Amino acid sequence: MEVFKIPLMNTIEHPSTPCTESEKQHRYDCAYLKMARQWAELSHCKRRQVGALIVKDDMIISDGYNGTPSGAENACEDENGDTKWYVLHAEANAITKVARSTNNAVNSTLYLTLSPCRECAKLIHQAGIKRLVYIDRYKDPTGIDFLHRSGIETTQILQP
Ligand SMILES: [Zn+2]
Repeated sequence: MEVFKIPLMNTIEHPSTPCTESEKQHRYDCAYLKMARQWAELSHCKRRQVGALIVKDDMIISDGYNGTPSGAENACEDENGDTKWYVLHAEANAITKVARSTNNAVNSTLYLTLSPCRECAKLIHQAGIKRLVYIDRYKDPTGIDFLHRSGIETTQILQP
């Protein structure tokens, strides 16, 4: 897949490091991931709960968890236990929340409890997010591979 001509120089995959390190950025990353985890607990979805935070200029500018659109019933799964097609992923909710505000996500950092699917990876790239920090890795690596190719720095922290 050769979609972009963006140089890959600012693409970094950091190894997972424990959160006992004192480096300031790392401590903040861990703290935001812990918050994202608490946000995930707000989700009404039963199969999987995911939380997202968007931080820009040291401020949280948006948040989200996976769930149905506003105005819809809260249940994410149908009677067969399958996720309804219109459930929004946590990062999609956080990005669209910024779209409703006067702010934007350009040059921001996205904190996620689970790395993005390929659909959300497109939104992350297009929203101008420049950095992604996440805890767990989604089963399909297409989304994270896409972000690498588009020059977004990604960091996995397994135990924030
Ligand atoms: Zn997604």
